[in-house]
Amino acid sequence: MSAPVIIVGAGMAGLACARSLHRAGRSFQLFEAASALGGRVRTDITEEGFRLDRGFQVLLTAYPEVHRQINRGRLQPRAFRSGAIIRLPDGQETILRDPLRDPRAAVAALRAPIGSLTDKMRLGVFVAGLLGRDANALLSESSISTLDFLRRQGWSEEIIARFFVPFFGGVFLDRSLSGPAGFFKFVFQQFVLGRAVLPALGMQRLPEQLAEALPKQSVHLGARVETVSSGGVRLSNGQFREGSHVVLAVEGSSAHRLLPAIPAPEGWRKTTCLYFAAAHSPGKGDGYLRLNATTDPVVHNVCFPSDIAPEYAPRGSTLVSASVHGGHALDEATLLAKVRLDLAAWFGEAAMKWRHLRSYELPFALPTGPQALPAARLTEGVYVCGDHTAYPSLNAALATGRLTAEAILLQN
Ligand SMILES: Cc1cc2nc3c(=O)[nH]c(=O)nc-3n(C[C@H](O)[C@H](O)[C@H](O)COP(=O)(O)OP(=O)(O)OC[C@H]3O[C@@H](n4cnc5c(N)ncnc54)[C@H](O)[C@@H]3O)c2cc1C
Repeated sequence: MSAPVIIVGAGMAGLACARSLHRAGRSFQLFEAASALGGRVRTDITEEGFRLDRGFQVLLTAYPEVHRQINRGRLQPRAFRSGAIIRLPDGQETILRDPLRDPRAAVAALRAPIGSLTDKMRLGVFVAGLLGRDANALLSESSISTLDFLRRQGWSEEIIARFFVPFFGGVFLDRSLSGPAGFFKFVFQQFVLGRAVLPALGMQRLPEQLAEALPKQSVHLGARVETVSSGGVRLSNGQFREGSHVVLAVEGSSAHRLLPAIPAPEGWRKTTCLYFAAAHSPGKGDGYLRLNATTDPVVHNVCFPSDIAPEYAPRGSTLVSASVHGGHALDEATLLAKVRLDLAAWFGEAAMKWRHLRSYELPFALPTGPQALPAARLTEGVYVCGDHTAYPSLNAALATGRLTAEAILLQN
C-alpha cells in the first residue's frame, strides 16, 4: 500500500480532489485549518433559523463541473428568475426579463431604458453567438479587459453603465470590469445556458455534498498545515504526515506562504454582505436579483433569498441580502447606517426598520491577476489547485481539484 495522498484545504477544490481520488479507490488524508469544510462556501444558521451564506453567491447550473460532480436534484435548487431588476440613475426600476426564456419579454426588453435599440440588437447577436461555443475555449479568448472588449464591440456607455456594470460588476465584485473578457464571455454563457440557483439549505450544501461519501477518518478539521515538502506535511501541532503526493488546495495567498514558488494573487476583490430581517418581502416574491445602476452606489445588489428559497428564513420573515463591493474604510456601524439610507431610498422608509442580522466583510473574496500557474504538478510530488490557478469561480475550483486527482491517478 502506498502512502495516502495528502490534500491541504477543504474548499471546493480540495473536496473535488478528495472525491475523485476516493472514487478511484485511492487513499487520501485531507487537512483543513478551519473548524468546518467549504472554504469560501459556508452558510451560518442563526438561532431564529435564518440561513446566511458567508457572502452572497449563487450556483450556476450550467457549469460543466456541476454536471460532472454535483447531484443537482439533491441540492434542492431554488432558481432565481432569469433577468434582473435594475435601479436606474433616476431611482426608477426597470425589469429586464430574459427573452430567451420568455419570448413575450422580448418587446419589453427592447423598450427597457438601459441602452439604444442598436445596443440591444447587438446584445441579441452576441448572446446567440455564445450559445454553441465551447466553455473552455471562451475562457482562453481575449485577454483584454471586459470593459475594453465591450467598448470595442461598440456598445454604448449607457448600456455599459446600466446593464454590464451592475450585472457583471456584481459577479466579478468589480465595477471597473477590469478582468479578462474571456472570463466575462464564459460567465455570460453560463447565465444564458442555465439558471442561477441557491441550494434550499444554503450554499454550504455544495461542499457538504462533495464530502458526503468521503471516509470520516480521512478528513481532519482544525488541522492547519505549517510546512510542505514532497514527502508530506507538518501540522501546526508538530506532527509530520507522510504522503505519496501533496496537493495544495488552499487559496492563493496561503499557497504562496506555504510554497513561495507559487505566485501570490495580484490582489483580492472585496465585498461586504449585510443581512436584514424584514416582516414582508419588499420584492413581493418576484424572484429577481436587484442591481443598482445609480452613480457611485453604496449598495451594489440586493436580493431576498427567502423569496427564492423559503428555507432561508423562519416562517413569517423575509431575509434581505445587500452587497457592497470593494474596500471601504468604514467601521461596521457607519457602513450599516449608509447602507440603510441607500436601502430606504430604494425600497422606502420601511427599510429603516429592517432588523440587521449580521454583516460579513470578505476582504479575500476573489483572487485577481493573471493566473500564472495552471493547476498542475509544481515540483516532484507536489500539486496545486484551486480557483487561483484558473479563474475565480466555483467551476474552476471543482475543475482544478478533479484534474489534479486525475493527474495523480495517472501516475499509479
Ligand atoms: C462572497 C463571494 C461570492 C462568490 N460568488 C460566486 C458565485 O456567485 N459563483 C461562483 O462560481 N463563484 C463565486 N465565488 C467564488 C468561489 O466561492 C470560489 O472561487 C471557490 O469557493 C474557491 O474554492 P477553493 O477551494 O479554490 O478555495 P477556498 O474555498 O478558499 O478553500 C481553501 C481552503 O484551504 C484552507 N486552508 C488555507 N490554508 C490552510 C492551511 N495552512 N492548512 C489547512 N487548510 C488551509 C482554507 O481554510 C480553505 O478552507 C464567490 C466567492 C465569494 C467569497
